[in-house]
This record gives sequence, C-alpha cells and structure tokens, in this order.
Amino acid sequence: MITGPDVAVTARAAEAAAGLRPDFAGPVLLPGEPGYDEARTGWNRTIDSTPAVIAVARSRSDVQVAVRVARRLRLPLAVQSTGHGTLVPADGALLLKLSGLDEVRIDVAARTATVGPGATWHQVNRATAEHGLASLAGRCGTVGVVGYTLGGGAAWLSRTFGYAADSVLAAEVVTATGELVGTDAETNPDLFWALRGGGGNFGIVTSLTFRLYDAPSVFSGLSFFPADRGRALLAAYRDWTRTEPEALNTAVLLLRVPPAPVFPTALHGRPVVALRATGLVDEPTGRATLRPLLDVAGEPLLDGFALRDFAAASTATNGPDAPPMPHRQLVQLYDRIDDDLLDLVVGEGLRPDAPYAFVELRHWGGAMARPGPDAGPAGHRQTPYSVLAVAPYLAPDRAAVDVPVDRFDDALAARATGGSFLNLLTDPARTATAFTPDNHRRLRRIKRRWDPADVFRPSHHIPPAPADT
Ligand SMILES: Cc1cc2nc3c(=O)[nH]c(=O)nc-3n(C[C@H](O)[C@H](O)[C@H](O)COP(=O)(O)OP(=O)(O)OC[C@H]3O[C@@H](n4cnc5c(N)ncnc54)[C@H](O)[C@@H]3O)c2cc1C
Repeated sequence: MITGPDVAVTARAAEAAAGLRPDFAGPVLLPGEPGYDEARTGWNRTIDSTPAVIAVARSRSDVQVAVRVARRLRLPLAVQSTGHGTLVPADGALLLKLSGLDEVRIDVAARTATVGPGATWHQVNRATAEHGLASLAGRCGTVGVVGYTLGGGAAWLSRTFGYAADSVLAAEVVTATGELVGTDAETNPDLFWALRGGGGNFGIVTSLTFRLYDAPSVFSGLSFFPADRGRALLAAYRDWTRTEPEALNTAVLLLRVPPAPVFPTALHGRPVVALRATGLVDEPTGRATLRPLLDVAGEPLLDGFALRDFAAASTATNGPDAPPMPHRQLVQLYDRIDDDLLDLVVGEGLRPDAPYAFVELRHWGGAMARPGPDAGPAGHRQTPYSVLAVAPYLAPDRAAVDVPVDRFDDALAARATGGSFLNLLTDPARTATAFTPDNHRRLRRIKRRWDPADVFRPSHHIPPAPADT
C-alpha cells in the first residue's frame, strides 16, 4: 500500500521531471527507470541516496536549467561529478550529475589546463604527461578535478606549488539564480576567493582553468619495510620533516599490503610500514634526501622509488585505484607530533585485527604555508602534520569497524588542533573546523551575496551569514 509521504514524493519527482524535460538535453531519470540506480551511487557505498529525480547534464545550459527548476520547485539540489566527496544522501533531491561534462583542454604554451566539471585527474594527468607537464593532482586519479579543487586540493606536489586551489586562474560558474558568470582575480573577486577552498557552496562550476608545472620526470614511489620498523621510522620521519626540502612531498603509512598484482604476491596481506615520496628531483637527489629515513627503515621489502612521468608517478605512488566501497575515514591535524601520539598511531595502526586499509602520518607545510596575497580559504596553512586513516567495511557487521575507529578518533582528537582539511573531512558536523574563524565568517558573507536562499547545500555546507552582518 502506498502511504501519504510516498505519494507526495512521487508527485514532486514527477513535477520536477516535467519541469526539466522541455529544456534539459540530458537524460532525466525517475526512481525505477533504467539508469536511475547506477546514477544515484556515490564512491563511498555507505551512502544510499534516493533522489526524487536525477538529471544527467549534457551541457552547461542543462546546469542552468537544473538550478532554475530546483529553485522554482523548492527542491533540494545535490551536485555530483564522480561521487568521491558525497557524504550525505541526496534523498528527495534533484541530483544533478556532471560526469559527462569531462572536456580537458591543455594549453601547452601557456601551461594551463581548462576542464569541464566531470573531468577526473586521470584524464588530466594523461593529457599533461605527454607534454612533460604536471598538475596539482592528488592521491587518486579517479577523483574529480573540480570537486577536489573547490575543497582545496592537497596534491602530490603541494609542498612545492601549494594547494590545487592556489593554482586556479579562472572559473565559469552557474549561480543560484541560474546565471552563468565568469570569475577570476579581477572579475567577481569575492566569488573567486570563496571557490578556492570553500567547496560547492557558491555555485556550480562549469569550467575551471588552472596552472600546470614543468615536470618532465618525477621522483616518486612507495617503498615497504617490515612493520617492526614502524615506530622507529615514524619517529625519524617526525624529526626529518623539520628540514624536509620543499621539492619533496612525503608521508609514512602503516598498512597491510593490498592483494593487487602490482605488489609481489608474497607481500599480500602483510603488515608493513611504507614511505611515500614525490618530488621534482632526480633519483640520486631523492634517495640522498631520504637517506636518513631509509637508514632507519633498513632493508626494504619493496623498493618502489624511481623516476617516472607524472601520470605514472601518481599511480605508482598511490598504488592501484581503490574500487568504490563502503568505508570510514578520519583525519586530525597536529602542530607537533609527540611520542605518545606515535605510540598511539603505531599501537592502533599495527594492531593485528585493526580495521584500517592504512594509517598515514603526513607532513604538510612548504608552499602551502606560504600563500600568495589573494589566496583562498583552503586549509590551515600553518599546521604541519595530519593523521589520516581509512577503514573499509568488509563485512556486514559495521560495529566491528565503527567501535575501534571511534575510539581511535577520540584518542587522536584529544591531542589534535581541532582543525581539519575540507577534502579529507567526512563529518559534515565539523565543516567549520576546516577554516580559520575569519575565513569562515568571510565565506558566510560571500555565501549571503551569491546564494542568500541557500540553494547550494553540499555535504560540507556553509550557511549564508545573517542579514545584519
Ligand atoms: C580515494 C580518494 C582519494 C582522495 N584523494 C585526495 C587527495 O589526494 N587530496 C585531496 O585534497 N582530496 C582527496 N580526496 C577528496 C576529494 O578531493 C573530495 O572528496 C572531493 O570532494 C571529490 O570531488 P568529486 O567531484 O570527485 O566528488 P563528488 O562527490 O562528485 O563531488 C563532491 C562535492 O563537490 C562539489 N562539486 C563537485 N563538482 C562541482 C562543481 N562542478 N561545481 C560545484 N560543486 C561541485 C559538490 O558539492 C559535491 O557534493 C580523495 C577522495 C577519495 C575518495
């Protein structure tokens, strides 16, 4: 029997589809229709969305139509490119899919890329590598360029060139009224500032232009060492990072080697400590700079460091792309790393039945800590360290993951700054902690100017400032 609320939802969905169909060129999908179930999934499979209607954009004019229809019908609007950053279900919403708008244009002479809202880092990396250029791409090539950059973008080369958001030159945006506007340092500068770290709160970006960097080859890789070197390597890493050159970008990870063909079968499932590095240096320089860490780590189980083109470097340093899966992720930031914290990380990360795919200690700083005068609100730039952990749900019993992850997060939080990094944060209740208080206030004022009706309510929501501010 159909109950009252379902009738209302169905009526709203039909109304939305009828509103969209005359002007929207792409598919418009209602629950039960072919394609709906595939289109509603995100990357983290714990999110089970049931949008009222899904609109698959084929053009930027489709984006404008979707915004106007959502607004007119007062339907919540959710935006998705790859789904990697989808943290709350788009239940009852108009879900606008952007993945088809994946144009990538490289201007080799100007050393810039211009991409559509559906482009992924794999696409950009492949296009730039053949010209000896690198982007400020991150860990995983399947992540969307625009969503990643709007959330700051902590890249393989961020210690060298800053956040991805710092390299943005211009954007084209569909605003909350459905208008298409351009923005750069001179045009709509407040919007331009907010987009460089403030997430999807201010409009839908239909085109993004950003700088590329000369990188004919990149020293890069992931090397594995026996887990019993973990505590010593982490302590050496903490000390070594005080003099880490900006040319290098590094982290130490505790993990179980995934059963992927790129790793020797004998290592599959084995707990190890890993050293990760990426940098614009030659191999002898890279190895010499890492020498104090390599000496402490001892004989590697797998030596993954080599000189590669940027696309290959990104894949080699991350390991194989993880498939979409249900998982928990936690991140905490630190001004300093004390011995107690190291004990906690090693104790939990290497516990025999620990649920983590990896636990990572990362050094930030470098160019991220030296923003230009008009830099956007991305990140806590002076905070040098983070601990990040990812725990997949491999069995239906989620408590087996949630209980230890919550306990670990509480213990990590007790020593942390309280800040976070928007792209790595998965708790929408903590969104404001990704910004300095001044930047958060400024973002709320800009939100008030560009989206006073709060049409754009992404997972990491920044509400408009009250009228009297
Ligand atoms: C495996 C994995 C690896 C990652 N590695 C890194 C990393 O190395 N560094 C890092 O900084 N982050 C990293 N992230 C985080 C990632 O950058 C964020 O999750 C980001 O939001 C993903 O963007 P998306 O477009 O791919 O995802 P989506 O879920 O499609 O989009 C996420 C949100 O971004 C907004 N958005 C997307 N496109 C637009 C648009 N065109 N206009 C306006 N808003 C838009 C929307 O609010 C949307 O809800 C990683 C995430 C995963 C799952």
